[in-house]
Amino acid sequence: MALADDKELKNLVLKVAMLNAVQHGGKAQAGALTGKIIGEKQELKTRAKELAALIQEVVNEVNNFSIEEQKHIVLQNWPESLKKEKVEEEKHLPPLPNADKYVRVVTRFSPNPDCVLHLGSARAIILSHEYARIYDGKFILRFEDTDPKVKKPVLEFYSKIREDLAWLGCKIDEEHIQSDRLPIYYQYTEKLLLDNNAYVCTCIPDRFRKKSLAHKPCDCRNLPPENQMQRWRHMLDGSYAEGEAVVRVKTDLEHPNPAVRDWPALRIIDTKKYPHPRVGDKYRVWPLYNLAAGLDDHLMGITHVIRGKEHLTNKVRQEYMYSHLGWKYPEAIHYGRLQITGAFLSKSKIVQGIREGMYKGWDDPRLATFLALRKRGITPEAIKKMIIDVGPKPQDVTLSWENLYAYNRKILDPISERYFFVSEPAKLKVKGVPREFKAKLPKHPEKTEKGFRQYTITPEGSEKAATFWIAKKDADTAEVGATIRLMELFNVRIHKTKNGAIEASFANESYEEARKTKAKLIHWIPEGEEVPCRILMPDATMNEGLAESYCKKLKPNTVIQFERFGFVRLDEVGANITAYYGHK
Ligand SMILES: [Zn+2]
Repeated sequence: MALADDKELKNLVLKVAMLNAVQHGGKAQAGALTGKIIGEKQELKTRAKELAALIQEVVNEVNNFSIEEQKHIVLQNWPESLKKEKVEEEKHLPPLPNADKYVRVVTRFSPNPDCVLHLGSARAIILSHEYARIYDGKFILRFEDTDPKVKKPVLEFYSKIREDLAWLGCKIDEEHIQSDRLPIYYQYTEKLLLDNNAYVCTCIPDRFRKKSLAHKPCDCRNLPPENQMQRWRHMLDGSYAEGEAVVRVKTDLEHPNPAVRDWPALRIIDTKKYPHPRVGDKYRVWPLYNLAAGLDDHLMGITHVIRGKEHLTNKVRQEYMYSHLGWKYPEAIHYGRLQITGAFLSKSKIVQGIREGMYKGWDDPRLATFLALRKRGITPEAIKKMIIDVGPKPQDVTLSWENLYAYNRKILDPISERYFFVSEPAKLKVKGVPREFKAKLPKHPEKTEKGFRQYTITPEGSEKAATFWIAKKDADTAEVGATIRLMELFNVRIHKTKNGAIEASFANESYEEARKTKAKLIHWIPEGEEVPCRILMPDATMNEGLAESYCKKLKPNTVIQFERFGFVRLDEVGANITAYYGHK
């Protein structure tokens, strides 16, 4: 049956096109629909052309309606979908170039597993993943682990990177590891050599450089393919030692950028001395970045390469290889540098700091690794929102930690419960408390449905005294004669301070009174209701104090707000509590 006669299919295309139109200001984009339809009807994969024609026809129909009409039609026929699509509508990444030319959008993130991931990779990961989701495409994780010597991969990072991506909410549709693919790289290298599009160069680097700068071929370049193949075999069988031969891909020797001219594609690494963590000394000829990434992007069907603009020259280099092989280069989006002031986004500095013992581990709070951010209660949603707001623009962008905190605060503030933490505790003794008080403290000031923490204050002895823990900072600034308010409890008048301990007398209960006298509002913990609490701060110092006993009921990994202190993530909860500080 012709697809155009399939009523059920036509209805599905109509629905998807209408929703897409509503999402894109009234104009459906045909290219975005093919993947979606095939996602639901796999059997149409083989009829992509016919399907594309049908989609184009429906899209033309749909785009004739005004957006109001489109919304009305969706509301009448598929009210549920509109709700779901509306949420997605908030993401406002610009459309990918030429997405409609491809049956399915395929993107990739390709880290070298020589370090854990950090905020500097967030843009590549989130944009690539997000676009794959928007276009109902495919997101590939590709480990680029072909340098067993200088940027040596480490086994634990393969799994740590997968965990980081899972935490970020980036679902991997397909995974490849380049160290499994050397036979494939060899196969294409041989094709390039046989076709006279590459050569084995045995010149010492200085000699090659001089020739190249003079736009002249080196002596190796024009040897016939038989000789090239023989030299290639000698690279593989060990006749050449490390550093004695490289494969170069031919380019225009007149290219204005000398770094592009006849770029190196594969080299020898003595893997007896520098074994690869996954494949040991099985191979001694290893591809360099442009050969491996360039071949893989085509072979894996990547349609859109989304990466930093420092790769612009790599595109130029790889385009020569693509033209030798008769391939079309994928769409390339090059975004600008993203800097976070005050954050180390250099992988080599992180690795060096760890090696020298400057940092306690990959999750050291001074680092911008995802492991550290996770420990501090930074949510993946905040990182994602920030990256999407910045988008893929080519201009450099500088953000601060404060920017990230603001995104995170917006997410945490409505959901985090509030508790009291007293840093460097000092004792406050309040005399003359007239009766028993039951303090009822909301877990969230605007969401009383979350419940309360309750503490009973019972005056004791002839002095009718009650004792509290308060923060040293509040104790230090309490002036004799001043009134301060214990939040949600009562007002007290300060009498005398000695050795850090403070004495006060009960003043009154009214909050109005406190407001009138501009009394400082401070947090407190009744003596006997405290639990020792240590908080690891972003500068790796430890803030020691007491948390209110209610915190013992909370689960590790919960993010809460200690009032007048900041958001923290509880790490361990028991007789003692340990937490990581996030931000104000
Ligand atoms: Zn040479």
